[in-house]
Amino acid sequence: MFASLSPEKTDLSKMDAASLWHSLVQHKPFSQKPPKCMARGVGCHVTDTEGVEYFDGVSGLWCVNVGYGRQELAEVAYGQMVDLAYFPLTSMGHEPGIRLAHKLLELLGYEGKVFFSTSGSEANETAFKIARQYHAQTATAGSGPRYKIISRYRGYHGHTMGALSATAQAERKLKYEPLVPGFLHVSPPYYYRFGDGQPEDVYNAACLRELEQTIRYEGAESVAAVIVEPIISGGGVIPPTEGYLRGVREICDRTGILLIYDEVVNGFGRTGKMFGYQHWGVEPDIINFAKGLTSGYMPLSATVVKQHVFAAFLDEPGTDSHFRHITTYGGSPVCTAVGLRSIEILERENLCERAAEMGEYLLDKLQQRLLDHPNVGDIRGQGLLLGIELVKDKASKTPLESDIVASVPRYCMDKQIIIGRNTNTIPGFTNVLIMAPPLVISREEADQLADTVCEAVFAMPSS
Ligand code: PMP
Repeated sequence: MFASLSPEKTDLSKMDAASLWHSLVQHKPFSQKPPKCMARGVGCHVTDTEGVEYFDGVSGLWCVNVGYGRQELAEVAYGQMVDLAYFPLTSMGHEPGIRLAHKLLELLGYEGKVFFSTSGSEANETAFKIARQYHAQTATAGSGPRYKIISRYRGYHGHTMGALSATAQAERKLKYEPLVPGFLHVSPPYYYRFGDGQPEDVYNAACLRELEQTIRYEGAESVAAVIVEPIISGGGVIPPTEGYLRGVREICDRTGILLIYDEVVNGFGRTGKMFGYQHWGVEPDIINFAKGLTSGYMPLSATVVKQHVFAAFLDEPGTDSHFRHITTYGGSPVCTAVGLRSIEILERENLCERAAEMGEYLLDKLQQRLLDHPNVGDIRGQGLLLGIELVKDKASKTPLESDIVASVPRYCMDKQIIIGRNTNTIPGFTNVLIMAPPLVISREEADQLADTVCEAVFAMPSS
């Protein structure tokens, strides 16, 4: 008999055990300790069904940028559902979709077109298809087809088959092979781990040379796009070296390859500016958003192309060059209305500036208190996207054992503070603690977060 139907098993944790498939966790331990069940959220805090309150130091999955419990977002969603709950963005439009597309282009400061989907993975899939079709329609006679997509190791781009193929974290892919052909990977500028004592500019040049050589070996005329997260997020919080994005842009320009930014995590204030790439001032051809676009209140993503890319999709008489791509829920009136208001909140409350200020405060505090710890290799990040890389010793940089690293989020959880860690399972790469709290974090909350994380690091069992 189906367990949740039996009368004695109607409480939530038993129903959970009977029916819910959770992401990224082993389910066996749930038989001893059922997963917590969250019920409410306000600001940076969520409360479970037992009434226990937690500080959410990772904003759900780095997405609740404006914080929990925003009544006005609920009201906007309600009002929009009453007015027009659903309509597709095929041959017709609707007001919130139009307004949000316009707003995104205004924020980016350039002309282009916005294609809405519902998740970060789909935004990336959309970008890959756009890149391939763009080249198919701009190829000169005898060239192409340009179909290859180059991404970087440690980059995460999603769970669907194309986005997973671009994701270059082997541990996430092994059991799902074969994936989509035509995806290649190069090294990211992971200076702390692979800089090997070289000056940063020398290492940066080596990373760029690797990209350029890969393109040369593959044949530039076969490569459609390069995709990068300006700051790698789930792969261990890895900001680019100085000059890296400019160098990638130059290589793409020289070789006719489109540059795609995955700003699914970086976007909407997370790094202390509206968009992560704005720290380096290097624009892409295509940019992808999700998560912070609605602060996680609604499933929405966007793929924004510059006008020169869209120009290849304008049907000339007698041609058939429009984009053959459709999504039922992408850009629904409710999702786009909520996105628009979430951005309005970011702007009204100066949350990008706040993220910059609080991020610097937290980074400084963590560095002052932890950098001398023998197992702390590096503390890095931008805005409220922060990582602490734990090592066995500073000289060898051998990653600290996963079970020791795991004691830190566990300790924090016991103090009702949720932090993340890089969940990769390749031995040696589970060692980055992650903090990405809502951008509304107060100084007191930042102090509490930093104090608890520091205590937890000092309480780690020895290696
Ligand atoms: N890109 C990046 C950088 C991400 O971090 C994620 C999700 N964590 C995705 C894409 C995929 O987004 P989604 O889970 O909404 O498909």
